[in-house]
Amino acid sequence: MKKILVANRGEIAVRVMKTAKKMGIKTVAIYSEADANALHVQTADEAFCVGPAPSLESYLNVDKIIEVAKLTGTDGIHPGYGFLSENADFAKMVTENGISFIGPSPYSISIMGSKLDAKAAVSKYDIPMVPGTEGAVDSIEEGKVIAKEIGYPVLIKASAGGGGKGMRLVESNDEFEEQFKRAKSEAMSSFGDDVVFIEKFITSPRHIEIQVLTDNHGNGVYLFERDCSIQRRHQKVIEEAPSIKISEATRKSMGEDALKVAQSCQYSGAGTVEYIVDAEGNYFFLEMNTRLQVEHPVTEMITGIDLVEQQIKVARNEPLAFKQADLSRCGHAFELRVYAEDAMAGFKPSIGTLEEYQIPTGEGIRVDHGFIEGQEIPIYYDPMIAKLITYGANRNEALERMKKAINDYKITGVETTLDFGSYVINHPEFKSGNYDTKFVETYFDDYVAGSSKKEHEIIAGFVAKHHWEKELTKI
Ligand code: ADP
Repeated sequence: MKKILVANRGEIAVRVMKTAKKMGIKTVAIYSEADANALHVQTADEAFCVGPAPSLESYLNVDKIIEVAKLTGTDGIHPGYGFLSENADFAKMVTENGISFIGPSPYSISIMGSKLDAKAAVSKYDIPMVPGTEGAVDSIEEGKVIAKEIGYPVLIKASAGGGGKGMRLVESNDEFEEQFKRAKSEAMSSFGDDVVFIEKFITSPRHIEIQVLTDNHGNGVYLFERDCSIQRRHQKVIEEAPSIKISEATRKSMGEDALKVAQSCQYSGAGTVEYIVDAEGNYFFLEMNTRLQVEHPVTEMITGIDLVEQQIKVARNEPLAFKQADLSRCGHAFELRVYAEDAMAGFKPSIGTLEEYQIPTGEGIRVDHGFIEGQEIPIYYDPMIAKLITYGANRNEALERMKKAINDYKITGVETTLDFGSYVINHPEFKSGNYDTKFVETYFDDYVAGSSKKEHEIIAGFVAKHHWEKELTKI
């Protein structure tokens, strides 16, 4: 493989190009009209505009992307995450054009792309699953009967779901109808597919996932776990590796089961098996993501393995150069997703120009980003500016470095999740590790309510003072 086209933008496009360069591989960027000055365009050896700003006309414009790949003599396409990364038709089209798709086969992608097909494939392997329906639930009446059997609270989930969309929590029979309709319509509008199913809602859950790596020669390893329990709207914001909540025996068992999940869909390349873990430490298979994850750097930090390099090697048909017994973990890593969002206003996107933008540097600090000072954050795409990653010999050192790095990160012009990150990592429950995926609702929402109350009190106080001064002048 001598030339790779990265069918993506932002930090992940820059990240993939970095490894390609290290391996002596030339890179091709694609970009939309909104991204003409983007960092990934500047980083690549060649760059081509593939259409106007809306993703459908540019980053999802498969015909144009293939045309650029052929024109440039590209021999591999890396899809990053999001956009076309889990699109089996695109993967097929790439290979049919004689280009390597740096990712799993269309078969693996399509099985794991449907949560119901994934459950069916995995069910043959004796892996713990969340109690729930095996197939689609079509009517409200049927759903109510099933929910009662499973026992409230339940989750209604979109089979084609992703990014926390099309998922509804139902606490009681009275709420069922409304939430069922909402889940179905959200699934239809987000994924063009309104198939939903029902799962038991695991109370006080943690989200723990295993990184797997498999090749085309029957070899596979797991690169331990990532704990991604700090989420907003069922989407991850802070991740860490390793998890301090699982024992060595559970880690091994989750890892071995993850390899069985990979086997169930003949997986090849880097993939992630997600589990939900209950308060008693029992784990249940959730889904498999058939691509590089946003949070892959924390695994790279504790294993010393470059996952993009491994993806490229597998796509070149090379066998894995290590076995499970060769792998070890060292130290601890955190990742904070730095979004252009106003955490104090319900994580609302905060679009604007990066007037001041300076990244932190120092020992154990890594920033994967796609922007430079003066650039605008386009409204068309995911508002992630960067991923702030810190590493330390132990959790405490990695946390201290995260504190310093957040402090040293200078961003003005947009609101960011940096202060939110600071709130979380300084929180006693986060420090002690006693939290679940509802951390934001349990603690941060109260903090926000408290702050706005304070603000109201200040304003009320100011108004009262002003009024009193006016009264005084009358005397
Ligand atoms: P998506 O594909 O939309 O990301 P997932 O199935 O991976 O959906 O779930 C995303 C998040 O939703 C999980 O990390 C977890 O916080 C929550 N979740 C999913 N299923 C359950 C469940 N059965 N019980 C409790 N929480 C769940």
